[in-house]
Amino acid sequence: MTGPFVAGDRVLLIDRKGRRYLVTLVAGGEFHTHNGRVAHDDLIGQDEGVRARSTSGSRFSAVRPTLADFVLGMPRGAQVIYPKDLGPILMMADVFVGARILEAGVGSGALSMTLLRAGAEVVGYELRPDFADRARRNVSAFMGPDAMERYRVEHRDAYEGIEETGLDRVVLDLPEPWKVVSHAGAALRPGGILLAYVPSIMQVAQLREVLAASRFGMAETVEVLARTWHVEGQAVRPDHRMVAHTGFLSSARLMADTSPATSEPQP
Ligand code: SAH
Repeated sequence: MTGPFVAGDRVLLIDRKGRRYLVTLVAGGEFHTHNGRVAHDDLIGQDEGVRARSTSGSRFSAVRPTLADFVLGMPRGAQVIYPKDLGPILMMADVFVGARILEAGVGSGALSMTLLRAGAEVVGYELRPDFADRARRNVSAFMGPDAMERYRVEHRDAYEGIEETGLDRVVLDLPEPWKVVSHAGAALRPGGILLAYVPSIMQVAQLREVLAASRFGMAETVEVLARTWHVEGQAVRPDHRMVAHTGFLSSARLMADTSPATSEPQP
């Protein structure tokens, strides 16, 4: 979405203290803050970055939210994967335009949006119907109707199996990803990538053990640390606070099936 703001646009309002608010513009609408009201009509027709004043004189800047802004501001059922991990997931899972991806569980849809944004076709498995609905609503709100043609969420348990075959990628954010390894091995094409996000290193160890005894190879585990900096005049230093822990990213690739049991008939 480019050009001046129009009614129906989602807008990020930022106050002087850097606090952020997600608002959908409505002709004649008002955004209420404890620092007064901002008239939507003061934003509609203006370019991104416009500064508006509230009724009590406070200043707000308005821009369209990025994917990262939306992920952090959208309604969440389950915990979302943070932008610092979402970006690296695209590289580690080597997501490409047209990639066929199975994602489980879907949660609030933050990872779904990231995969769809990169051009993938996503089938999601989600245990909880309320989360599946929330994800569909979030994805449709941010990505629009076109992306929904590449997105399907099913109410399913990924531990029970994966129906799709010939997949390019399987991307997991659920508590016991090792229970999906054999299903992913059957659902992926050779060379396909399995990626799992887990918060605990015990989960990583268990997953890596199961991967090591499977047809998957080239396993890797990464932790992404992002440290923002405070830059103001002579005060140039890391920020005091950071998100020190979210989760670990592990990936592996499905190797050719060379086991005698399947490549040759049994005697
Ligand atoms: N990656 C998501 C968050 C996922 S939270 C995001 O970025 O928004 C983990 C989700 O996995 C929860 O919604 C939970 O209901 C779901 N889940 C847990 N076990 C599952 C299973 N066996 N099959 C499918 N979904 C599962």
